[in-house]
Amino acid sequence: MLKRMAVGTAVAALAAMALQIQVHAQQPQQQRRAVGGTTAGNDAYPTDDQWKNSKEAQALVAKAKAAAGKDEKLVSRFDKACTVLGPQRPAVLRQNAGLPPEPQRQVDIVKLFDNFYFFGFTTVGAWAVTTNQGIILIDSLNTVDEAEKIIEPSLKKAGLNPADVKYVIVGHGHFDHFGGAPYFQQKYGSKVVMSKLDWDMIERPNPNARGPQANRPLPKRDVEITQDNQKVTLGDETITLRITPGHTPGTLAYYIPVKDHGKSMNILMLSGANITPDRASLDAFKKALDYAKQQKAQALINGHPGLFGDEIGWMEQVRSNPNGPNPFVLTTDEFAKFADIMKDCAEARLVAMDYKGTN
Ligand SMILES: [Zn+2]
Repeated sequence: MLKRMAVGTAVAALAAMALQIQVHAQQPQQQRRAVGGTTAGNDAYPTDDQWKNSKEAQALVAKAKAAAGKDEKLVSRFDKACTVLGPQRPAVLRQNAGLPPEPQRQVDIVKLFDNFYFFGFTTVGAWAVTTNQGIILIDSLNTVDEAEKIIEPSLKKAGLNPADVKYVIVGHGHFDHFGGAPYFQQKYGSKVVMSKLDWDMIERPNPNARGPQANRPLPKRDVEITQDNQKVTLGDETITLRITPGHTPGTLAYYIPVKDHGKSMNILMLSGANITPDRASLDAFKKALDYAKQQKAQALINGHPGLFGDEIGWMEQVRSNPNGPNPFVLTTDEFAKFADIMKDCAEARLVAMDYKGTN
């Protein structure tokens, strides 16, 4: 059994780092339209009244709550998933509540599975998947500067060689995921992978971009994901990808085989905030979760810690007790129920948007 390494002991404050939280499509309640439409952005969520008063939506919420039962892990995940805005980044919830942003803090690299590491910030992170022929990075933080000052040293601290990064798979075309990719592409020849739809999106001129966003370097297009279940293989590792639109047109879902203390298991990663503002995106989301159930996935991971639970706390647990139970891991039965909860709660938000005052 591989002994899990604990690198560092605590979350380091990075006071000098400018706060770079990008808030995507989420809108404060008063800015959301009373009757939802079918496009992302302002129309991505129902209003509080629609959510509370739609009987159809509340029936789905009740069904999801029943599926969670008394399983503590599922109840806490239900609490995050089954709200009017769905799973949200803590930074967005603070903003919606009118609270000032918390300073961005760096998280020391942590080995979550035998071949899977997290590093980055409390607000957004990136992963390294290790294989017998190099490393696959998933996401790349906000900027080229962070790739150099955070990602490279983090990899080295864990005994990994940054020159071994063969692929950078970017979950979706927002800068907090692709920002550091040009660094690896230029310095190490790493191939950058993104959905074709999101390559198209980031390469489109954006007349509204201001400040650092306006002249942010883009990675050049290497590999396009154009269809569901397209694979990226490196050595003994194959990551399967699906397209789950809503947050962006080509947001990716990943199925990643990992080892947990020597035991093989599959994990699902959903990039973005899992917004499903229309039937097409909801259907893709449901299929992605159903596929994960079929693959007997046992953990759900997202680039923004705090979306599905106290992920930063869970990482600290793994760090301080590397041979103990991994709080990210569910049984396959629990995962299947969690997937159904996520699907029902996403469906509930969509049907609530159709509520116009009568049931
Ligand atoms: Zn995003």
